Amino acid sequence: MKPKAFEVRRVVVLGTGGTIAGYVAGEVGVADLLESIGAPSGVTLVAEQVAQVDSKDMSFNVWRQLARRCAYWSDVPDVIGVVITHGTDTLEETAFFLHLTLECPFPVVLTGSMRHSAELSGDGPGNLRDAAQVALRPSSAGRGPLVVFGGDVFDARTVTKVHTSSVGAFGGYPGPIGRIDQGPTGPALRYFAGPEARHIYAPPELNARVEVLYAYAGWQGEGYAEAEARADGLVIAALGTGNLPAELLPLVEATHKPVVIATRTHAGPVLPLYGYAGGGATLRRAGAISASFLNAHKARLLLMLLLSLELSQHEVRRVFEEGLF
Ligand code: ASP
Repeated sequence: MKPKAFEVRRVVVLGTGGTIAGYVAGEVGVADLLESIGAPSGVTLVAEQVAQVDSKDMSFNVWRQLARRCAYWSDVPDVIGVVITHGTDTLEETAFFLHLTLECPFPVVLTGSMRHSAELSGDGPGNLRDAAQVALRPSSAGRGPLVVFGGDVFDARTVTKVHTSSVGAFGGYPGPIGRIDQGPTGPALRYFAGPEARHIYAPPELNARVEVLYAYAGWQGEGYAEAEARADGLVIAALGTGNLPAELLPLVEATHKPVVIATRTHAGPVLPLYGYAGGGATLRRAGAISASFLNAHKARLLLMLLLSLELSQHEVRRVFEEGLF
């Protein structure tokens, strides 16, 4: 995408809360966060407070507002990108939701912090500065929403929180798609690969209910029937390449709603390999759908969007198994 040719270009920073917006005795608004970093050269940063929540309370309403604000600002000629500040706990869900629903012609970059502003070595200002630098580069466009943390740039599909307290809290298989550093002549951004195709699924409401079940050694299906009765679809964080104890096979067979098999293992695909009762091959024959490389909570979001769009089970399978996300 060509950079917009204006003398003063703007990057809009949408604040939603989280530790980056916290200090020892209260909250820091997004305007204060911007004061802490100053503006990159030739660019004005604009603050807009969309929400002020710990990300455990992130909701469809906030996601919808974020999507609307991104769409609004993408039509403003001198605005070249958006940064979203966010709590780290569910940041990957917001990033993936926007990845699946937002046609964004310009960079949208999410960041947060692990240490609040009153802590020694608070990481908020550095992450915010990096995110703004990534958002103003034309090379960041067309990649879908990005997550910038500790100088690493991640794709919304693969990024995940990998540590509860370290400042290097984000990772995901196969890893970052780029890197931003403060080099000797200024910020240096490098991407390791080109943009990839995206697919947009944007229902007006997110009204499908999808529940996640977590497999473990000795699981005999406790909770399955209750979840199946309540939900429009299920995601199971299964074992390894997507296997379940034998007791689960008849339950999956009897389910006429989509059952998506993800894995509780932190990296790698779901592959329908094993032919024993409950093995991935038997679950697939019983109608289960493979989540591919998506973790269970991202698979849940995709399934909610597809079911809210009233896609058939056959179409849902195609999206997951052909990687149309
Ligand atoms: N609990 C916080 C949140 O997700 C953690 C953080 O921001 O790092 O909002």
